Amino acid sequence: MTHVFHRHLRRTPPRAVSANGVYIEDADGRRYLDASGGAAVSSLGHGHPDVLAAMQAQMGQLAYAHTSFFTTDVAERLADELIRTAPQGMSHAYLVSGGSEAIEAALKMARQYFVELGQPERTHFIARRQSYHGNTLGALAVGGNAWRREPFAPLLMPATHVAPCYPYREQRPDESPEQYGQRLASELEAAIVAQGPGRVIAFIAETVGGATAGVLTPVPGYFKAVRSVCDRHGVLLILDEVMCGMGRTGSLYACEQEGISPDLVTVAKGLGGGYQPVGAVLAGKHIVEAMSRGSGFFQHGHTYLGHPVACAAALAVQRVIHRDGLLGKVRDDGHRFGEWLREALGEHPHVGDIRGRGFFWGIELVADRASKRPFDPALAVNARLKGDAMQRGLLCYPFGGTVDGLHGDHVLLAPPFVATQDELREAVRLLAASVDAVTRAAAR
Ligand code: PMP
Repeated sequence: MTHVFHRHLRRTPPRAVSANGVYIEDADGRRYLDASGGAAVSSLGHGHPDVLAAMQAQMGQLAYAHTSFFTTDVAERLADELIRTAPQGMSHAYLVSGGSEAIEAALKMARQYFVELGQPERTHFIARRQSYHGNTLGALAVGGNAWRREPFAPLLMPATHVAPCYPYREQRPDESPEQYGQRLASELEAAIVAQGPGRVIAFIAETVGGATAGVLTPVPGYFKAVRSVCDRHGVLLILDEVMCGMGRTGSLYACEQEGISPDLVTVAKGLGGGYQPVGAVLAGKHIVEAMSRGSGFFQHGHTYLGHPVACAAALAVQRVIHRDGLLGKVRDDGHRFGEWLREALGEHPHVGDIRGRGFFWGIELVADRASKRPFDPALAVNARLKGDAMQRGLLCYPFGGTVDGLHGDHVLLAPPFVATQDELREAVRLLAASVDAVTRAAAR
């Protein structure tokens, strides 16, 4: 009998009791190789001594002080560090407790920015289909995951959803990746124009898509074209790097690889590496200046903003990433990891696509490779894969859902940056066995 309100009310998951490095152990003594870092969270693995020491020191000194009374050294140092390493143009970090909270804050910052500028008629957000921005109502409203939105749809603020950058399914055979990216940017422009001049607040997108269609990497030039469209219409660009940021793709921010800078960027997950719930919105100088010249006050806030222990954990994670050269390791070993995945699964009859960057990889499973036909949702291939992989001692992050009438099963891999090459190879071996067993059974 459990009194924990688990998401699945008819089954209780195994009880995790301890974790070290890339492994988690449950109450029955089973060990799991954590190849998804939970949900792309555990960037330094489990039990990292430097992070634990930083948290302990902070807890002993000052565990909590409300931000309406105080700032703290540790919040100031974390914000300095985030801005020092941020995409160009960012000037302040708003420190929250997770991804959805970061998205809510970013949406409200964007709206308040235009109110301060005397443009209150800007009320509309444009986002993408096959996207995920969190489960709170504002984040769900901009999110493009039909399954997650469905029960709550009547409660959500209206938003326009344009196509994601999803070459495997949506790039036409007669267009180059660059032409495909341009076409998507033109679609965004048409959506802005359709709302009417001066009506759109922002376009929000995950730089690399995560938990809806399985690691959607942008085609070259797509984000540059998107940035120009936004600039032409005075629309802000909000990049959601909650999952793909903080080193996951081999650069601290995924947008560095696109050669652009957003007006607002959200991070969470890897920011605290799972040691504490923590997220942040980095805001461009123009946003902060407009608010500080105008009302001088951001009309938003939560009890745990800038929580000192969360900030200490995030700061320690940042230091380890830089001190230990983990971004370079993610780039180099990530490249190998991709090759091993392709060697093991590239020709598999039920693997449609393998895509990713750094330590962030997605595999799209299909019933039929030639036609790209997905599995019947009733087969729940992604749920079966999760169970089968756990039986083999592997944590991967499978998900699926019906989006625009199309059901897709995907699995996401996001190993801790500290995983050794042997551990990465072991993850590929276990995953390949699991994918093979589950998809062949489903295809029967
Ligand atoms: N944005 C993205 C891109 C995410 O992947 C997630 C979580 N999967 C969120 C926002 C929401 O973050 P959280 O679950 O911490 O609220």
